[in-house]
Amino acid sequence: MTETAEVVIIGSGIVGSSVAYHLAQQGCTNVLVIEREAHQGKGSTGKSMGGVRAQFATPVNIQMSRYSIDFFSRFDEVVGHPADYRAHGYLFCATTERHLEYLKTNRKRQSALGVKNVELVSREDIAKFVPQLRVDDILGGTFCQTDGFVDPHSVMMGFMLNARERGVRLWLDTQVTGIEVERGAGTAGVSSDPGSTTSRITGVMTTRGRVSTPIVVNAAGAWAAEVARFAGSELPVEPLRRQLVPTEPFDGLPQRFPMVIDMSTGFHFRREGKGILLAWNDPEETPGFKTDFDPGFVEKILTRAADRVPLLAEAEVNPRRAWAGLYEMTPDHHAVIGPAPDVAGLYFVNGFSGHGVMHSPASGRITADLILQGHSGLVDATQLNVARFASGQLLEETAVL
Ligand SMILES: Cc1cc2nc3c(=O)[nH]c(=O)nc-3n(C[C@H](O)[C@H](O)[C@H](O)COP(=O)(O)OP(=O)(O)OC[C@H]3O[C@@H](n4cnc5c(N)ncnc54)[C@H](O)[C@@H]3O)c2cc1C
Repeated sequence: MTETAEVVIIGSGIVGSSVAYHLAQQGCTNVLVIEREAHQGKGSTGKSMGGVRAQFATPVNIQMSRYSIDFFSRFDEVVGHPADYRAHGYLFCATTERHLEYLKTNRKRQSALGVKNVELVSREDIAKFVPQLRVDDILGGTFCQTDGFVDPHSVMMGFMLNARERGVRLWLDTQVTGIEVERGAGTAGVSSDPGSTTSRITGVMTTRGRVSTPIVVNAAGAWAAEVARFAGSELPVEPLRRQLVPTEPFDGLPQRFPMVIDMSTGFHFRREGKGILLAWNDPEETPGFKTDFDPGFVEKILTRAADRVPLLAEAEVNPRRAWAGLYEMTPDHHAVIGPAPDVAGLYFVNGFSGHGVMHSPASGRITADLILQGHSGLVDATQLNVARFASGQLLEETAVL
């Protein structure tokens, strides 16, 4: 007998799990989540730094962060599982007038959209957060107390456990191998023809057999473009490697301090247990499914780290504990959320460009709203539609770490 579901979600990372939760929470529980791995979190979610922030440049990202951070602050109570939200803040440090003006402009926009607690801070204020920071060239910055960190794995599991308690099904170890689309003329089959505008979803093909469904949510992270092509749809999402380096236990920095961002290089760091987690996005990185850690990266990042925090030159690093994962990038560094223009019943929730953990509550809610009501009260979701790339109405987020 063919399985059926009202909605099939492809991918059980933090985004697919949030969509499942928000659908179930709105009463739609005949939902099947399909994950090719034997465990959840093997994609980008398990590799994330767990940072959450409202300090963005574009209104839609600020709105999504505002909803999401408020959600994280109530997550344990509302979802019934821990998010490990820590409001340790994000501290942006500017070394040029241009960067300082940029932060001030963003702060005004953030405040106008209800994020009222972003403070302008002086060099002296910054030195108080992390006395070991080299501040001679820092002109000032911004600090937002409610920015901070969550445990991405815990959030993902919380969303999924809650959804499953309400009846959502999860198939692990099952790969979606095709999406069945009925073309305008009424012929059904696993499709590769993007031509017709009257196509509609009828099912998905999996390694466990066919599932009949009118609605498919593409939550396949860095693999989203391939999944979109199953339905004959084009999605401009490409994988880009990001590498993180933890130090061995290091007590040369305070036990608690914000995520610190050195805007002169993009180097940023935070405490992770007894050590420090170092991050820097190498501008020489090229797109591709590369998930191996490059040992040569250690020296590159330590150079930036020691330049900003000279004491970090003494920190020990074991390259075998460092890791790499994939950002899922779009051309304007904004998520794609909403219905595919060319295939009825296909929804995208992809391309978070490094912000999929922090925006998981908002993206799940927006997607559930669009599926169940056709619009979302949270943001004007039309601006996030994939059609913006064809029409040239790009959003362009510049505060990408
Ligand atoms: C090093 C690093 C640091 C990061 N730091 C942050 C941060 O500080 N803050 C933040 O907000 N974000 C951060 N991100 C980004 C964040 O991790 C991602 O945006 C987010 O995890 C995306 O979640 P997802 O559920 O869409 O994708 P994923 O977690 O990748 O899940 C997609 C799932 O789809 C499954 N799948 C794919 N194809 C198929 C198929 N055909 N059939 C069945 N299953 C399939 C995969 O197996 C995978 O489990 C970071 C990412 C990296 C790599």
